Amino acid sequence: MSTNASLFERAQRVIPGGVNSPVRAFRAVGGTPRFITRAEGAYMWDAEGTRYIDYIGSWGPMILGHGHPAVLEAVRQAAGEGLSFGAPTEREIELAEAIIALVPSVEQVRLVSSGTEAGMSAIRLARGATGRSRIAKFEGCYHGHADALLVKAGSGLATFGHPTSAGVPPEVVQHTLVLEYNSLEQLEAAFRQHGSELACVMIEPIAGNMNFVRASVPFMQRLRELCTQHGALLVFDEVMTGFRVALGGAQSLYARAIPGFRPDISVFGKVIGGGMPLAAFGTTRDIMKQLAPLGPVYQAGTLSGNPVATACGLATLREIARPGFFDNLSARTRRLVDGLAGAARETGVTFVGDCEGGMFGFFFLPQLPQHYTAVMASDKERFNRFFHAMLDRGVYLAPALYEAGFVSAAHTDVDVSATVQAAREAFTA
Ligand SMILES: *Cc1c(COP(=O)(O)O)cnc(C)c1O
Repeated sequence: MSTNASLFERAQRVIPGGVNSPVRAFRAVGGTPRFITRAEGAYMWDAEGTRYIDYIGSWGPMILGHGHPAVLEAVRQAAGEGLSFGAPTEREIELAEAIIALVPSVEQVRLVSSGTEAGMSAIRLARGATGRSRIAKFEGCYHGHADALLVKAGSGLATFGHPTSAGVPPEVVQHTLVLEYNSLEQLEAAFRQHGSELACVMIEPIAGNMNFVRASVPFMQRLRELCTQHGALLVFDEVMTGFRVALGGAQSLYARAIPGFRPDISVFGKVIGGGMPLAAFGTTRDIMKQLAPLGPVYQAGTLSGNPVATACGLATLREIARPGFFDNLSARTRRLVDGLAGAARETGVTFVGDCEGGMFGFFFLPQLPQHYTAVMASDKERFNRFFHAMLDRGVYLAPALYEAGFVSAAHTDVDVSATVQAAREAFTA
């Protein structure tokens, strides 16, 4: 029989680090990655037949749980009709219509195959539409691995960034400004110095790539005001939060708190593909007319709007749009986070958690962090011990403390209770 260890060894011979996306390698937490053989509902099984309650959900897409019957049926039927045509299909219209119906800020969408591609294209569109080169992002937010976005802050306030990856020339990130998340002071300074040169400001409205950090309402309100005032486009990267924290994405939550709020461009992925490679970016008709074939901003994709992926995405969106879906999912996620916090209290562990819809995060900190530096101040060793103690007890959490967690509609109260019980033991392990 293959074991996780033997598969990992074999994988490392032919795939760098043994994985096709770095975080899967367990480098942050140590140990042997689990090689998954199958998944159903809230569970995954590894090569050794061990079952795990899955709180990764393929890093977000599996909001219905694994193998939802309606989704599988839609995929089977679509596959039977053809895997790819390289020509338009009615299903692409249906998916575009479904996204637009759920997200009022979006009048048109372009479908692509990954969140990286969607984010990269959104930036090109923003630059093309404004005729400006400079962009701003926030430290700790991940928008995919496009060159211009693999950047960390330069020294000093509102200075342009340095590459965070080898292979990215400094010239490529010299137009990217990196600011501290939730820092009004840095935001004001950036716009004061560079406002008229900024094509866009890109943000994860609830940052899931530094665990779980919300942009505060006053911060978001000021960001919106400054973008409007200076003619910079506000780009919401909702690859993780879209159709995950609420049916209308994080922007629907900010629109509830800030009257009239909407971003200019939205980027989606993960849930809209339901587990297949599919992502999208969308905005107003007016901005979208800059995009090829209508306008001068080039963008294309051989597998964009793939017929099987769109079938999977459509079936997923149909299920999550059912009345009560998000109320149930939110309540289940809240129970999990409250349960974990309760178990931590009982065992005297410093712990704080937060959630929205089916997305959650937790820290071994006395209070919720507001930015990347504060996230990174949390106890990494403590997290790693907890991660492995949970894994040993059949609970699969994200294998790095800077990653969010995900609950699906397939997670039951029994799963949540079992997780909390495991945590009670793991906190003292
Ligand atoms: C996952 C993610 C991306 C990248 O999407 P890929 O499909 O992995 O390329 C971009 N932005 C955010 C916020 C994400 O969570």
